[in-house]
Amino acid sequence: MPLAIHWFRRDLRLRDNPALHAALECGAGQVLPLFILDDTIMRARTSGAARVAFLLDSLRALDAALRARGSRLIVRRGRPADVLGALSEQSGARTLFFNHDYSPAARTRDAAVRTALEARGLAVHSFNEVMLAEPHVLQTKAGTPYKVFGPYQAAWRAYMAAHPPPPEHTLAMFAPPPATIESLAIPAAAELGLSSVQQLPPGGEAAAHARLAAFMRHDNPLGIATYDHTRDRPALAATSQLSAYLHLGCIAPLACLRAAQAANTTRSPAIDTWVGELAWRDFYYQIMAHFPHVLGGAFDPQYDALAWQNDAGHFAAWCAGNTGYPIVDAAMRQLNREAWMHNRARMIVASFLVKDLLIDWRWGERYFMQQLVDGDHAANNGGWQWAAGTGASPQPYFRIFNPVSQGRKFDPQGAYVRRYVHELAHVPDRYIHTPWAMPAAEQRRAGVQIGRTYPAPIVDHEHQRAHALALYRAARADRRTQLPPADDNTT
Ligand code: FAD
Repeated sequence: MPLAIHWFRRDLRLRDNPALHAALECGAGQVLPLFILDDTIMRARTSGAARVAFLLDSLRALDAALRARGSRLIVRRGRPADVLGALSEQSGARTLFFNHDYSPAARTRDAAVRTALEARGLAVHSFNEVMLAEPHVLQTKAGTPYKVFGPYQAAWRAYMAAHPPPPEHTLAMFAPPPATIESLAIPAAAELGLSSVQQLPPGGEAAAHARLAAFMRHDNPLGIATYDHTRDRPALAATSQLSAYLHLGCIAPLACLRAAQAANTTRSPAIDTWVGELAWRDFYYQIMAHFPHVLGGAFDPQYDALAWQNDAGHFAAWCAGNTGYPIVDAAMRQLNREAWMHNRARMIVASFLVKDLLIDWRWGERYFMQQLVDGDHAANNGGWQWAAGTGASPQPYFRIFNPVSQGRKFDPQGAYVRRYVHELAHVPDRYIHTPWAMPAAEQRRAGVQIGRTYPAPIVDHEHQRAHALALYRAARADRRTQLPPADDNTT
């Protein structure tokens, strides 16, 4: 039987892993499970410490899972084409298996690997597992990629109904790689010069499945059964928090869909809403795959002309969570402390950076990629361009979140603000989103001095809103002049 290599990348799991299962079949149980510490990833400016630490933890979990099945993870470092060439030569492997990845950098890498290994006479097989519907699968009637989420989602749901997830594969046993095939130890983050100060969730497949199972439990008051009512409350842990696991493939999107469908026997709107989030995930992957220019500029190129102010002091205040707007500051402090941020909060801080501080959305996109444990080029870019109004299916440019009313609506008692902005812990509810309006005596009672122990707002929302609208109108090709609607807080 030909020895096969399975190259793990963003599929750090044994279950629901089509390339791994095919490799096991091809090698009659003997497969070389490989992970490559690729220097371009490990040193990339955007590979944040939290994400790399989570990756290393997930690799340790993968190695432990393989060892429990009689095998082990082979870890090598270097350029993938070189590492794979050397391993095939050393081991005599004749076949390479991996699952697709869709970022432009990954596609370039994979094409180079395929060419190099085929030139050495290896057979190279690749499979889908990162997405539920691969980019080429869903197209408009005109044969073009979808640019608008509504029709994309309708087509996606029809496709999922016609192609229900197959049952989970029963895992075969592994034969261990030959003892002569050496491996590097999985490094600690500090050995890579990365210091992560954030508290991270445990990595790996078992942790991901435990999280999915807890979220799916019908008696969990913050689980999927209440998702449509609770998902917009940043103070509640009422979303799945699976994003980091999905990003690295510790769990398959297929496993998430299968679990949601199994729970959805009575067509629950809550479960349908959650499944819609998996559709958003695929939507942004297919946007990135078909329109790779989004990773450097606006999806809608007219917005590349936006005349940003890019005030470095304002950007530093936003990053640190010192803008004087409590909901924005709570969210940024959550990001800095936990390497994760609630979706509603992501929308609020992104809108604030772009439309209140008039800072280029790409600055925010980069900061998120540096900080987030779930940082994902497709979803992050999609989220930022949505908020900036420059993307596919965006928030219209004239809808501008008011950070005070967003706070009042989604964090009415200020529980989220109090958790992360300790200076405001004792501020009465009525001032929790407008602490600058507190009379001096009230400030003394609450133990805070606005402008001294907690910042006064660094910008005036109404003033900046007018400014943002003018900037957007100036950049738009049609120079639309009609008055926009008032602040929008319904989204
Ligand atoms: P749930 O609400 O439980 O959703 C389940 C899964 O669906 C998520 O884990 C995620 O994989 C996917 N998902 C949910 N919402 C979206 C969405 N809007 N777009 C794409 N996929 C979605 N998500 C990332 O995974 N990585 C990012 O880097 C990222 N950056 C973002 C930046 C901005 C400015 C915005 C507005 C959103 C961003 N998102 C990103 C999307 C979303 O905020 C997170 O996926 C979500 O908060 C993760 O929490 P969860 O796992 O509890 O999600």
